Amino acid sequence: MITADRGNAPEVRIEENAFHRGEAIALDAAPHESGGILVGWWEGDGIAVVRGLLAVPDHRAGHTHYERRHTPAQQVLDEYLATSSEPNVGYVGEWHSHPTPQPPSPTDRHALTGLVRQARHSVALVVLAVMSEHAVEAYSLIGEPCWPSRATIKPADVERIAP
Ligand SMILES: [Zn+2]
Repeated sequence: MITADRGNAPEVRIEENAFHRGEAIALDAAPHESGGILVGWWEGDGIAVVRGLLAVPDHRAGHTHYERRHTPAQQVLDEYLATSSEPNVGYVGEWHSHPTPQPPSPTDRHALTGLVRQARHSVALVVLAVMSEHAVEAYSLIGEPCWPSRATIKPADVERIAP
């Protein structure tokens, strides 16, 4: 692997096995959307390391709709943290699938902006777009708070890393 000086390019590094779990959930849910929360940590400026794509079921999810509900998401996060031995691990963002080869939508960017404004810290979004019966493509955005109460949304490179 070539490691170049990336400057400040936002990046989401997803552990290979976490990616495969998310991929399986996305393929399974198609033609509906599915999703949940990302757990991991932030490394330096604008780099999210993702250890897990946790599923938060939304029984009302449709072809172009997935809503991550707060209460079940909090439960899923609490359960994960209770079994994790990593002190640094926590919520880093959100993910959902698109059953068609579509990158993050304007609605997704809008939702991310809302989350960042509320959280007042960086939030990552990963979209797993189903490209074929067996393959998904990962897209990512990172939202950062920006004075006084706005958010900047930047596309981030997705890198798959060994655990
Ligand atoms: Zn979406």
